[in-house]
Amino acid sequence: GAIISITDLRKSYDNGFQALKGVSLDIEEGEIIALLGPNGAGKTTLIGAVCGLVRITGGTVTVGGHDVVHDPRRARSQIGLVPQEIALDIFETVWKSVRYTRGLFGLPPDDAHLERVLKSLSLWDKRDNQCKELSGGMKRRVMIAKALSHAPKVLFLDEPTAGVDVNLRRDMWALVRELRASGVTVILTTHYIEEAEEMADRVAVINKGEILLVEDKAHLMKRF
Ligand code: ADP
Ligand code: ADP
Repeated sequence: GAIISITDLRKSYDNGFQALKGVSLDIEEGEIIALLGPNGAGKTTLIGAVCGLVRITGGTVTVGGHDVVHDPRRARSQIGLVPQEIALDIFETVWKSVRYTRGLFGLPPDDAHLERVLKSLSLWDKRDNQCKELSGGMKRRVMIAKALSHAPKVLFLDEPTAGVDVNLRRDMWALVRELRASGVTVILTTHYIEEAEEMADRVAVINKGEILLVEDKAHLMKRF
């Protein structure tokens, strides 16, 4: 069944701009879906609306059966979000950064879970390093580890390869597949069709606040 259900979602910002004009989309448990569209299409707004960071002005969104407006805490507990920008306390160690993020969800410590997360991201050997000692790629991995600290069912990656070199991009593609293998549903945004095709099972093309089409990637490549 659908882990995320979006129905006729609308968002008008306070200046009157309509960033989402009635978006409907069901996301199945265990799939990787790419939101593909140009800058300004509404991808970040859509992620923000599902994650409860953007106040919606119409429609409904449920995550794991929990309504994001009426039951935001439960809905949010199912979600991990990796934002576009790397935001880390550079003087903190990897281990403490990830542990701290888990604490923000009001959950008791679970060091065995955090150990699994760090190992799966090849960060275990870096756990006592300060974040400032890490490469850009490793910093991105720490951002993902933080987003997985509360064992969410769904992971959002907003432009995971923006400003990233070719090697790191391939690294990220492999990582997304590993995440899926571990049972996490992944939703990512991109403005590259090649990247959507490479990473995702299904692609939703979004432009000017509307979903233009949703296709399995096999069909998508035949269209372009
Ligand atoms: P909401 O309706 O969700 O409360 P607001 O309209 O109050 O959101 O805007 C939230 C923030 O985004 C404000 O600080 C605003 O200055 C900023 N903002 C305004 N216009 C833009 C824009 N075009 N792109 C990104 N951020 C913007
Ligand atoms: P994308 O992630 O696809 O680049 P966004 O969701 O960031 O698109 O933005 C969609 C549209 O909404 C853009 O035209 C942007 O300028 C506008 N927008 C984003 N945030 C705000 C805001 N807080 N207030 C007004 N307009 C905004």
